[in-house]
Amino acid sequence: MDGLKNIKFFLVDDDPGVVEIISGYLKQENAVVDGTTLSIEAFEKIVAQKPDCVILDIMMPELDGLELCKQLRREPILKDLKIVFLSGKSYEFDRSRAFSFGADGYFLKPITDSAKFIDDLQHIIDDTPELRFWGVRGTLPVSGEDVLKYGGNTNCVSINFPRNNLFIFDAGTGIKLLSNHLMKTYQSSISAKIFISHPHWDHINALPFFTPLYIPGNEFEICGPSHGDITMRELISSQMDGVYFPIRIKEFAARVYFRNLKEQEFEIDQIKIKTMLLSHPGYCLGYRLEYKDKIICYVTDNELFPETSPYYNLDYFEKLSQFVNSADYLITDSTYTDEEYKSKINWGHSPVSQVIKLADHAKVKKLFLYHHDPDQTDQDIDDKHTIARDLLKELDSRTICIAPKERQHFVL
Ligand SMILES: [Zn+2]
Ligand SMILES: [Zn+2]
Repeated sequence: MDGLKNIKFFLVDDDPGVVEIISGYLKQENAVVDGTTLSIEAFEKIVAQKPDCVILDIMMPELDGLELCKQLRREPILKDLKIVFLSGKSYEFDRSRAFSFGADGYFLKPITDSAKFIDDLQHIIDDTPELRFWGVRGTLPVSGEDVLKYGGNTNCVSINFPRNNLFIFDAGTGIKLLSNHLMKTYQSSISAKIFISHPHWDHINALPFFTPLYIPGNEFEICGPSHGDITMRELISSQMDGVYFPIRIKEFAARVYFRNLKEQEFEIDQIKIKTMLLSHPGYCLGYRLEYKDKIICYVTDNELFPETSPYYNLDYFEKLSQFVNSADYLITDSTYTDEEYKSKINWGHSPVSQVIKLADHAKVKKLFLYHHDPDQTDQDIDDKHTIARDLLKELDSRTICIAPKERQHFVL
């Protein structure tokens, strides 16, 4: 990656000092920079120069930044243009309004960390989601010197999409690491969708420790399957009833909404989301996301029975294959080796050979082994990974198998 080299920027800010400072940061990265302090003349210059990215102030005397953004978004020849705001306005209202006008990013003035500014800008220009693993264990968090490589936290994954969309999958103990990360790196309010696969402990029990929920101005939607007449709100609030945890959900200071999901399809900001009920005790949902040309599937917890099992269900296998078909990335329950599985039949988790069969059959490009059994050491996971890769080799498969570690991140 060449960073911002030769990327064309156009800055619009009535404060010449801001234009100078931001130009300086960008030129250090060998970007091509032009700009104006007169918003009224910006439109014509931008159309003539067709930059890759425009950086706009909001409050400008002649033509307001939001109005200029609206005009730029109407111009067909600028369809690939990225528009980011750089404003002194820290109110959530202004921020969300900028995104509703078609902004790709929003930065707060003054820029105090230029390296982070450049990094974030790069992410917006590349327009690629970023996946991070915060906990890769299933069932129970573990600690000790033999789990240092993969980490001991339970399920939590985040996907940071461009256009300010943060998606979080599951709230096992890994969400505490994500909480620390967000508290350290976010300068403004945090908003995210939290998708819960199902309400078993290892998928929800660290949600009360997710600090951004207690900060006014933040906004979260917690989505997941209801259990018959028990709603998602009740599932989350019952573990915070004052007896099992001393803080109740009414003490969340952020705006928190709940959404009950079934098998369905919906869309959030150009990200298509599809859900499917999985083979697991209770109601457990898998998620398939499509963003531009990328397909990402999060499928845990799930038991794939071997063909020789009396519980094997070909229709289910085919339905799930279709659900994860051609996924660029499949994060899935690979809890056991086949040997371990023999004593864990009907526990709701998969042996690795069946995961490989699914991934190969569905032409998955990258398979992430996930939800490791708490009794497995780093060496055990390495061995399971080797077994998985050998099985793929035997099948002459094009699927690549990865065993991600806690905190590891991937640009998708
Ligand atoms: Zn689990
Ligand atoms: Zn479970």
